Amino acid sequence: MENKRGKLLIIGFGPGSFDHITERARKAIEESEVILGYTTYVDLVRGLLREDQQIVQTGMTEEVSRAQEAVRQAELGKVVGVISSGDAGVYGMAGLVYEVLMEKNWSERDGVTVEVIPGISAINSCASLLGAPVMHDACTISLSDHLTPWELIARRIEAAGEADFVIALYNPKSGRRTRQIEEAQRILLQYRSPRTPVGLVKSAYRDRQSVIVTDLEHMLDHEIGMLTTVIIGNNSTSVYDGKIITPRGYQRKYTLDAEKQTLAPHQRLREENEPWALHTVGADKKNEKSSPRFLAEEALSRLQGTKGASVSVPAVPAAPRAFVQESIFEFAVSPGVANKKITSAQLIALAEIVGENGTMEYTPHHQINVSVPTDCPEVITGKLRETGLIVLPVGDVVSIKACDFCNGEKTDAMPYAEKLQELMGGMSVPKELKIGINGCGMSCYGAVTEDIGLVYRKGKFDLFLGAKTTGRNAHVAQPVAEGIEPDEIVETLEKIMRKYKAEGHPNERFYKFFKRVKEIEGFRHEDAPVQVLVEAVCGD
Ligand code: SF4
Repeated sequence: MENKRGKLLIIGFGPGSFDHITERARKAIEESEVILGYTTYVDLVRGLLREDQQIVQTGMTEEVSRAQEAVRQAELGKVVGVISSGDAGVYGMAGLVYEVLMEKNWSERDGVTVEVIPGISAINSCASLLGAPVMHDACTISLSDHLTPWELIARRIEAAGEADFVIALYNPKSGRRTRQIEEAQRILLQYRSPRTPVGLVKSAYRDRQSVIVTDLEHMLDHEIGMLTTVIIGNNSTSVYDGKIITPRGYQRKYTLDAEKQTLAPHQRLREENEPWALHTVGADKKNEKSSPRFLAEEALSRLQGTKGASVSVPAVPAAPRAFVQESIFEFAVSPGVANKKITSAQLIALAEIVGENGTMEYTPHHQINVSVPTDCPEVITGKLRETGLIVLPVGDVVSIKACDFCNGEKTDAMPYAEKLQELMGGMSVPKELKIGINGCGMSCYGAVTEDIGLVYRKGKFDLFLGAKTTGRNAHVAQPVAEGIEPDEIVETLEKIMRKYKAEGHPNERFYKFFKRVKEIEGFRHEDAPVQVLVEAVCGD
């Protein structure tokens, strides 16, 4: 009779709670005739074991003999389960078992059957308790120098720190090994801010679970032990409501008076928002030195020496260099509300500021939108304002679009346009909003096609609300009032803006808001399309 072929099931059972063991791991434990494991691990899965199973428990440092025994039992034709917490292939038993098999010239075709059953590793289970710290490139580094020289571990921490990986430190500390975590902190502080979020998770999903959110500077003020996993964020990681969050992307955008923030989901994959991408770097070397690829290659070359690295860098670092996250400053410039003429001095100042790395876009809204990588916006705005340019925020803000008042010949309405610019230009609102102001009934700059239109006529203002400025069913604004006294127009618009700001839904365009609320400051919305009659004469 043919001998029964033995089977080795190398089982990762996750963090330790039964809720987080995979179905395959449960079945593999059930299927095993022999279970081998470190005593603590056996205790963690004891509720899944049967009396007729042979249980072989060994101490923590006896992994090699455990692997040898597992192979021996399998070669006797038994189904042998070798259990590891977390994932058996991440600092677990899978590699050791294969090493023993390799020594015996095992082959998949003739030897015992081997199956590695994946489990949830500590980097994942601990991350889930901390929020979402591992949303970007991450690495695990074990600080145990029992089997790995400390010098190599230190170089790995250095490389991961410089290349801005999120780092999960396994085995950070034990009774005898206390200096490694201090040394790891010292190295990482050369590359990351002391405020970098750090999560300390002990016994994730077990009875004595503890979760601490701290930072790189203060992490050693807390208890760290054998059962702790330390997760250290990258340069863009932040803490929100006690949770550590690493954004999916790197670039942050901001405009005047606005917080730096990561790109909104719909902005992320646009080519202009990924200037560091390989195709961009290949086409234009300007971003090479700060690209993740460059940094990763540099870190790799330092581990390997310069051999094989495609970028030439010294093998020994002269000085540590922190990864600097790029921020894009976006704003708009205009020579004035009514003034449409830009001077050569202004253009030269703009060109110098935008340089090779920024962009300028002329828009149909009487302004140039500028985008430059910088962390010093005050310097830029200061230089531009010195030349007389108006510097404005972009995004969901109020823009004032005035006509040129017949090249400054019809100036009666101009002071009101300037006042509105002063009070409301750049005001943050639920969705970008334009106020068009035209100096006479010719309305040749199309005020009635803006979200809000003002037409100065016969010494007073006509008010138009709620144009739909784009789309196939675009329409002009509804004329809601004629002959508003100039002294009242600024206050009237202020009240309208206050209501829109307070009651508008995020991203709700003004025409939709007007339609929804039906009435603003006594001006009632009308559903029917309205034909706008504008006097076709230039004059008051
Ligand atoms: S014609 Fe009227 S609307 Fe056009 S620029 Fe002159 S004042 Fe402004």
